[in-house]
Amino acid sequence: MKTASQGTVLVVDDDQATRFLVVKWLTHANLTCLEAADGIEALRILREQHEQIDLVVLDEMMPGLNGFEVLRTITADSALKLIPVVMLTAHANAETDFVEAAELGAADHLSKPFSGPVLKAKAVRAVRTRTEARDRLRQAELLARIDPLTQLGNRQLLHERLREESAFAKRYSAPLCLCLLDIDHFKSINDRFGHDTGDQALKIFARTLAASIRKEDAAFRFGGEEFVLLLRNNGRQGGLSVLARIRAALALFPLQLPENKRDSGTECLSFSGGIAVADADNEFLTDQLIRRADIALYRAKQDGRARDCLADDSALS
Ligand SMILES: [Mg+2]
Repeated sequence: MKTASQGTVLVVDDDQATRFLVVKWLTHANLTCLEAADGIEALRILREQHEQIDLVVLDEMMPGLNGFEVLRTITADSALKLIPVVMLTAHANAETDFVEAAELGAADHLSKPFSGPVLKAKAVRAVRTRTEARDRLRQAELLARIDPLTQLGNRQLLHERLREESAFAKRYSAPLCLCLLDIDHFKSINDRFGHDTGDQALKIFARTLAASIRKEDAAFRFGGEEFVLLLRNNGRQGGLSVLARIRAALALFPLQLPENKRDSGTECLSFSGGIAVADADNEFLTDQLIRRADIALYRAKQDGRARDCLADDSALS
């Protein structure tokens, strides 16, 4: 049974026999190999496929661009510089070449004729380091889109998801409902009970939103005490019933007040909502959804809060 590839290595050497040997050893280690016979070809492959390439094994002596020149180009290119490079140097002037390779940013080196097991071990280690760094970066990128307090997606993630949902809505002619929610009198909660209770309110609210939507929907913290729901394949009626469900759920979860405030009775969260829909009436246009929902939300607040307003589609033009 063939084991899954552990990573992809670009093998650069003008000598076909050396390339063959390197590829043989790396394939043994379950690494996928790409080959280039000179520096120009290596840089072309790197620019086109840098996202897949985990390691470059680079010959020092090549006609045209030599290995040091290729290495210098790689380390100067922001898209390429994180890809580790193992230099293959000629043994005659090994020490000076090692020094130069290291100074130029090579992760490691081997002198020819190289030992297969040593090449294999160094390549596996370099690929693993690269893969782990990439996983950490991906994790960090994901964390950068999550609001740490509520664990909901933030505004950036909302905009990304909105683009995807917009494409889905157009493709399947499925309405997309956006609800913008604002916790009523949030400032007063902070003022009367302190910021810990304010944070608790945001968490309860976020948890209630997340529990009240389907898997294909999404909830976001838009900023401050404002939240957004994206409800796939839902119109105005769908939006209204989700918000009614959230309102009913919030009534069941009063805030835990600080001890010295417990005499003042229970405190439940209420919110105002603005609902806007992208559907056949507006050619599934999502560009103005947030703005339309915001105008509707403003009306809900003007009308006395704790209620929902639908976006007026004449506001589209
Ligand atoms: Mg050579």
